[in-house]
This record gives sequence, structure tokens and C-alpha cells, in this order.
Amino acid sequence: MDRLFFFDTTLRDGVKAPGTVLTREEKIRIAKQLAHLQVDVIEPGFPAASEEQFAVCEQIAREVKGPVIAALARATNAKDFEIAWKAIESAASARLHTFVPASRQYREHFLRKSFAEVCQIAASAIKTARKLSKQVEFSLVDAFRAETSEVVDLVRVAVDAGATSVNLADTVGCALPADVEGMVSAVLAKVPGTSLSIHCHNDLGLAVANSLAAIRAGARQIHCTVNGIGERAGNAPLEELGALFALRSADLRMESGLKLDQIYPTSRLVRRLTGIGVQPHKPIVGSNAFLGELAAPQLADATAPPPFEIIQPEALGIHTGMDALGQDASLEALGNRLSELGYSFGSGEVRELYTEFQELALRKENVFDADLELLAGQRAPSEGSRYRLLYLNVTAGSISVPNATVQLEVDGEIVQDAGFGQGPVDAAFKTILRMVKRFPKLVRYEVNAVTPGADAQGEISLRLQENGVFVDGKAVGTDIVLASAQALIDGLNKLEHVVAHTGISEFTEEEGWLPRL
Ligand code: MN
Repeated sequence: MDRLFFFDTTLRDGVKAPGTVLTREEKIRIAKQLAHLQVDVIEPGFPAASEEQFAVCEQIAREVKGPVIAALARATNAKDFEIAWKAIESAASARLHTFVPASRQYREHFLRKSFAEVCQIAASAIKTARKLSKQVEFSLVDAFRAETSEVVDLVRVAVDAGATSVNLADTVGCALPADVEGMVSAVLAKVPGTSLSIHCHNDLGLAVANSLAAIRAGARQIHCTVNGIGERAGNAPLEELGALFALRSADLRMESGLKLDQIYPTSRLVRRLTGIGVQPHKPIVGSNAFLGELAAPQLADATAPPPFEIIQPEALGIHTGMDALGQDASLEALGNRLSELGYSFGSGEVRELYTEFQELALRKENVFDADLELLAGQRAPSEGSRYRLLYLNVTAGSISVPNATVQLEVDGEIVQDAGFGQGPVDAAFKTILRMVKRFPKLVRYEVNAVTPGADAQGEISLRLQENGVFVDGKAVGTDIVLASAQALIDGLNKLEHVVAHTGISEFTEEEGWLPRL
């Protein structure tokens, strides 16, 4: 059995998914959960990009034990390596990660350098990195549109300069499994012994197939993100690859170190904190992924369960049938469910939540995961939020003009106002925006039922735009007007976070901007 390594880049590449804003606390929670899942490497960010990213990497390196902590640095900026190393050097195991464009398209468009010059940049960057870090990963951006001979040469340059792992990135998601297999085989034939890694995007729905092809051809590490989140069609999804290699481990003769029953809790946590949903039919973590043909006819004396399932959902931390908790669920059952959903509450908090759960169970026949997430979410407000909704009353109907009375906490101060609108949601939104004195454009507003039944909770998902920045706001509740207002507040807090923390240095710095893998 060979060892397969999982390199998780949810917190660097994954968060490039449009509208994604995670606070520092949220990133740290995700990193801790990734450590529970026992991924091999966590890449929490690009420290030179902003003070916030530096702080996130620094705190994760200090607090998250187990995985290697990797930090990205531009090959063209020597300063990046010092900053990146300073951020992660306290980790028990740290890795600097640098990259150059490999394809002619990328090289000419973004760097205007010859292949020979790019080789020099790579060699000198890797040497700089190796002076600081024992582990240096080198990525070839857009490797699968590059000439095979140039990829081989660049890999050789990197290995000679001291790169300890070399990653081939299908940055634009255009490769076919046969291309990947061919490229990996060619590299390993010409530069034997290279510790190869693969980084795939899912533009053609091939990120999993391409990652698998690379491993079958001799690569040993996969870059991936939880739920496959990332820019455009996203990255290779960790949960699908993790389950695939667990299920077919004997045939593939590869073994990962993932703690399989943490796959689902990790997926739920990332889903909840990013607000990026998962389609019902998504492999492994979609809500329908393990719903077999429930009413299938079978022999009267059949004792074994029907052979639908290729992998036991429980092994992945999914407890089907437990999606709904009844009124009679025990304190222990609630505690277990909450930890499966990715929450880590103390016993006192679980007991308080249990009281709230029992109250909700009196009002609702079944309490679903989404209901629990609402309860638990209220208990764990994101720290440092600037705006909080304290009170909302809305009047609407066929006779009255829709109007809203709102009480907010803004920077710790309580403010109150009232206003009219075209409908109840419009009245609430107009009033809130006037109170916070900022007027982002509402570019999307959606309501979806998240749980079954007439007492279903509605999930509100909206997108705000302010000065070219997009953020998504989310909230869940049985009252969709109230949930809409909470989603708006969520979005406003995220806008505030982006304005306060997003580094713009990477975009304004004239020298050395490089498109990333
Ligand atoms: Mn990428």
C-alpha cells in the first residue's frame, strides 16, 4: 500500500468562490476540523496578501496540531517568503509553497518572460524558500496547456533547486484524464523519484477523474477543497476523493490518513460557515446521496439490507434517518447530532440547547438538521459583528402600507427606526439600510424551503454588492421576513469584514503580481 496525501486548500483557493467571506474565527474553526479529519496539509492562505491573511496563517500555525501548515509565496517577490515563513514557522511542520506560470499563454500574458527566464525565477525562488523551510512545494500553474517537454524541464529545475514536492495545476480545468496520466508519466519517467502532486479544477466536471488519473500514474498528493468550493466550477472535492480512495483502496493500492467519519461533519461545517450550499444529488455529502430506492420490492425472507449502498453512510459520519430528531430525542442524541454537524459545545451549552430544542419540538413535528443549525448558530454568533438585529416588527397585507419597525445594535449602541416599503421585506431592508447608513446593491435574493413539511424553515440567500465587492448573506427561519432581515444583517457584517480586512496590496502592488494556481 502506498500512502496518499491530502493537501487541503479550502482556506486559500476554496474561498475564492464568489461571495465567500470567512472571518478569522471561522477559518480557524475550519482548520481545526480539517485537523480532526486528519488531512495531511492545510494551506490557510497567502500571508503577503494582507495583514488579515498573515494573522490567519499565524494563528493556525500556532494552534492547529497535526497537519503540515503551508503558506503561499510569489516566486517573483523575495519578500513574500520572509512574510510567509514568519507566519507559519511556529508550526510543528511547515511548508512554503511557490509557483510560476508553466504554459506559454500564462507566461506571455502575465509575465512577458521567456521559458528560460521563468526557469531562473523558479530556481532562485525555490533556493530562497529552502533557506527558510525544509519543505518547499513548487507549483506549475496551467501545466496542462504547457508543452510536456517544458513541464519536464521545469520540474527538473525545481527538483535540482531543492523543491521537496512538485504540483501540477490544471488551473483552468481543461485537462482530460488521459492528458493528466500522460503528463505525470512523462515527468516521472524523466525526473524519477519526484514527489508529485495534482491540483485540479472542475470546469469540465473532471476534477475527481483527473486527480485519480494523476494518482494512478504515480502522483502522491491531491490538492482539494471541502465540498469542492472554489472559483468558477470549483476545485477537486475532498469528500469525493476521500470516499473514493477509502472504498477502492485495495484496487488502487493507496491509503490515505483521513479519518473517514469526519468527512460529513467537515462538509457541514464548511457549508454552514461559507453559506455555499451543496446540491441534493452531490456525491457523498448531498442530501440524496444515500437515499436508496426505499420502496424497492425484495424477497420476503431477505434479511440483509438491499445492496444499494456502495459505502456505509455511517462510515462517513452520515447518520441517515437521524436527519430529523423527534420530540423524545435524548440529551445525548442531541449532543451527538450537534457534534456530527460540526459544532463543539460544552456540556452546559448542550443542556441549554436541549431546552430550546424541546421548545422547538413542541412547535414542529420533526426537528431537522437545518433547524438545529439555526438553534446552534444563534448560540455561536460570529465574534466581532458590527451589526445585530434586536427587534423587527413588520405590518403588511391588503389594507395597510407595508411598514417595518427595527431595533439594531450598531457598534454596541442600540438604534431604532421605522419605515415603509413596497412589501414587508422591502420595508425591513430599506429601514435597516437607512439605519446603518450604507446602501449596497441587492443583486440576488432567494427563498428556499430547507426542511420538508408545511412548517418548513425558509432559507434566505442574498448577495450584496458595494464598491465592486460581493458578499453573500444567509439566514434560516420559519418567518421568512425575519430571516430576510437577518440575512441582510449577515451580509452587512460580511461587507464590513471585507472592508476592514481584505488586503488590497496584492492588486495594487505594481511589481510581481502573478495569477495563482
Ligand atoms: Mn486553483
